[in-house]
Amino acid sequence: QLEPLSTPERLLLGPGPSNAHPAVLQAMNTPPLGHLDPAFLAVMDEIQSLLRYVWQTENPLTIAVSGTGTAAMEATIANAVEPGDVVLVGVIGYFGNRLVDMAGRYGADVRSITKPWGQVFSLEELRTALQTHRPTILALVHAETSTGACQPLEGVGELCREFGCLLLIDTVTSLGGVPIFLDEWGIDLAYSCSQKGLGCPPGASPFTMSPRAVEKLQQRRTKVANWYLDMTLLHKYWGSERVYHHTAPINMYYALREALRLIAEEGVENSWRRHQENVEYLWQSLEDIGLSLHVQREYRLPTLTTVRIPEGVDGKAIARQLLLEHNIEIGGGLGELAGQVWRVGLMGFNSRKENVDRLIEALQQVLPK
Ligand code: PLP
Repeated sequence: QLEPLSTPERLLLGPGPSNAHPAVLQAMNTPPLGHLDPAFLAVMDEIQSLLRYVWQTENPLTIAVSGTGTAAMEATIANAVEPGDVVLVGVIGYFGNRLVDMAGRYGADVRSITKPWGQVFSLEELRTALQTHRPTILALVHAETSTGACQPLEGVGELCREFGCLLLIDTVTSLGGVPIFLDEWGIDLAYSCSQKGLGCPPGASPFTMSPRAVEKLQQRRTKVANWYLDMTLLHKYWGSERVYHHTAPINMYYALREALRLIAEEGVENSWRRHQENVEYLWQSLEDIGLSLHVQREYRLPTLTTVRIPEGVDGKAIARQLLLEHNIEIGGGLGELAGQVWRVGLMGFNSRKENVDRLIEALQQVLPK
């Protein structure tokens, strides 16, 4: 017979999930309500307005998708892309490639531009690509978790308007931890996750669409090719009609509401500032023990840092030792950077100086002298 579940207490300093705030876990422990209970519908309304706040948007169609970041990514692609649409994806790492694959599956004529992993596009490079490809949608990853690079977005929305296309942004590793101003920057479609900068367990993922993107959705010639994620159906549940669509993961939404409430209590600008201050402390501390960072300082993410594995060091063995001997999780490299870097996340509730100190102390013990 199995014992009741018992898991080790780890400090999650990898690419996500990050540790959830205790108040978030407590909220998750609240007994479920029915998914059409007015008290639960009020929780959904609160999630919508809190999401608008953390994203700095007034988009009426702002909801949480039942699923992880990839479900929200799929919702975005499924609703924005019609077969034959030219979709231009700026690939700066692994998750840009996922967007390429996904858009292709929804019938897009996908074009991609790429940068070496760890670099980002300049506005001029994006302008040239828009001129060449004349897409319906430009898709970019704001915070590329596979490389630790932050794609600057100021001015990109204006470019997209100049070229008559929608701007789609992956904010999975930026929301809550990296400054983002959805409306001011002219972002039409965005999605995120719960388990990184928001400090919540994975499973309920932010999604938003601008009125421009909703207009394109309303004018579609074809039905959205994904029933579960079709916003023309989902908005009838999240909007005033309250029509049953699927059974919401009630307790995940409780958790997300609490995580967002905590950010609102702190103030989203303060959360961004905290992430920046603590990551600078992390960078300095890593360099002080002789490690070097993969991304040029100007483009480094406040939420995820890629650290070069020193020559002759077995990166996997070090990460395993950190996990098993010190209960600290860090990530390995993904895709092109596999075996070359560790990925250290400092996100949400975990973005604290004491966590940096604990990691550095443990690293000093496990790294060869
Ligand atoms: N996009 C980015 C930039 C990510 O970092 C991730 C996950 O790490 C995803 C999308 C997919 O999210 P999830 O793993 O929650 O499905």
